[in-house]
Amino acid sequence: MSEGAVNKEERRKFQAIKGTRDLLPPETALWNRGEQTAREVFATFGFGEIRLPIFEPTDLFARAVGGETDIVSKEMYTFEDYDTTELLELIESRRAALTWTDSPILGPPGPLGSGTQAIFSPYTTLVGNVLRLGSDAFQKGKIPRTPENERVLADLKYRLEVFVSSLNSGTLNEKRQFVNSFKGLVAQLKIGESLSLRPEATASVCRAYVEHGMQQLPQPVKLYYMGPMFRRERPQKGRYRQFYQIGAEVLGGSDAPAIDAEVIEMVMTFFDRLELQGVQLDINSIGHSADNCRRGYVEKLKVALENVKDKLGPDSQRRIETNPLRVLDSKLESEQGIIATLPRIADHLCEACATHYSAVKHQLEMRGVIYRENWRLVRGLDYYMRTTFEITAQGLGSQNAVCGGGRYDGLVELLGGPPTKGIGFAIGEDRLILSLQESGKAPAQQGRDVYIAWMGERAHATAIRAAKDLRKAGFSVELPPVEQKFGKALGQADKLGAKYALILGDNEVSEGLWTLKTLADGSQAKYTEPDLLEHLRKQKALSS
Ligand code: ATP
Ligand code: MG
Repeated sequence: MSEGAVNKEERRKFQAIKGTRDLLPPETALWNRGEQTAREVFATFGFGEIRLPIFEPTDLFARAVGGETDIVSKEMYTFEDYDTTELLELIESRRAALTWTDSPILGPPGPLGSGTQAIFSPYTTLVGNVLRLGSDAFQKGKIPRTPENERVLADLKYRLEVFVSSLNSGTLNEKRQFVNSFKGLVAQLKIGESLSLRPEATASVCRAYVEHGMQQLPQPVKLYYMGPMFRRERPQKGRYRQFYQIGAEVLGGSDAPAIDAEVIEMVMTFFDRLELQGVQLDINSIGHSADNCRRGYVEKLKVALENVKDKLGPDSQRRIETNPLRVLDSKLESEQGIIATLPRIADHLCEACATHYSAVKHQLEMRGVIYRENWRLVRGLDYYMRTTFEITAQGLGSQNAVCGGGRYDGLVELLGGPPTKGIGFAIGEDRLILSLQESGKAPAQQGRDVYIAWMGERAHATAIRAAKDLRKAGFSVELPPVEQKFGKALGQADKLGAKYALILGDNEVSEGLWTLKTLADGSQAKYTEPDLLEHLRKQKALSS
């Protein structure tokens, strides 16, 4: 398309959506190294990879993560999914019924008598269409056969009858109110299934465990995953709307404290292998949800918080009602002194949870894993119980958590499966990479090994063959697509960070002796084809 044919509108520049980003070379090499290391380390602990869908029914997350959490209540990317071709007519009539307005030329509201029929009967037709098409789709199971949809359709039917039979009486205002209430009802008709982009993956792993009958496999089942997650958060350093997690879950079997400790040992081994700096492991136990354990503690915490309510900020004041445990999470400077005086969960664990917690600590010590106890570590998701942990690393500012995890024994059952023990963690890969970069662990730009500077038809043919052989031997080769003067070619090789330039001109080809220039020191030597390959192999072995 010529420049003139593109108008301003079409020339609009597209940009990545706020909170999402492109990951580019050479940074992606570091991402790959992180992922590769995770695969290697996790495999040595007997974990296998699970690949999961990126979207799931909204209900799965609402149920697992918890309807009251920030994640579910305001951060999920949710959309209605339906088969547009089959349901087009219903979608159209729903839209028409929702956007309909009566004619504004009618003058002031007042008694209308028989005039109303003419004004409002088009609307009754629209609602009638929604009712007819909706009921038919419901019968055939083309829209969700939920009790809500059943109720909406029954309600529509009843109210439409009332409306039609009283069309000739009442005021314009009364009719308008009726229309609005119809619209409210029509809007409630769910044509598609509500889906959400996953904000985390533990719920999906548990769903998959049940769906594939993995409880029949030798227990526990050990799975890891990696991939993008989505949360509508305020983007900042280390916090994105599309971010990446590497996580693992152990499902089934027992809740032996050694399992908790081994999972933590595995993450720490992974971080160690990557030489992540300033790694700090915090652990805690948040007990289980019984009166003689967490629930009892939360009651005491609530009472204590009520007593100091005036001294707390608005966020914490609100949380006293909604989720008192989260007050302990507060980073507000002014609240720290108050929080330090609050009752601590360790003093209120039931005997079984207390025993489990001390055994986990003992198991960590046996594995040489260094931890810090942090009684304020509560984790944001509803499903956690007993062991919780968080790992921070250096160079990340206030977003310094690189890994969060914990035990969630009730989750699989909550999702309709059999009672199943579970524990896992999720590593924030974006922050992991950021921390590695900050501490200078990023690999240098990956240059080419060999740049082939060729001139002439015969040399081109030889160059293509040489490139093929070198690549086969594992060297990274840049073969320019068109002939260049040697001077220009060498400049280009330099820019690409190539280690060597292989010079192929008419002389080299006819002599069968190829010139290899080492770009770092400018030295040059001639080799036969087999000698050259041998020489490069030796050099590579020396440098790695
Ligand atoms: P935070 O307290 O930092 O918000 P979180 O408790 O919400 O973390 P989890 O749901 O436990 O985090 O997820 C595990 C890890 O995933 C976190 O420790 C963090 O490294 C990473 N993570 C969570 N949300 C984001 C995000 N929006 N952007 C980048 N990484 C994230
Ligand atoms: Mg968060």
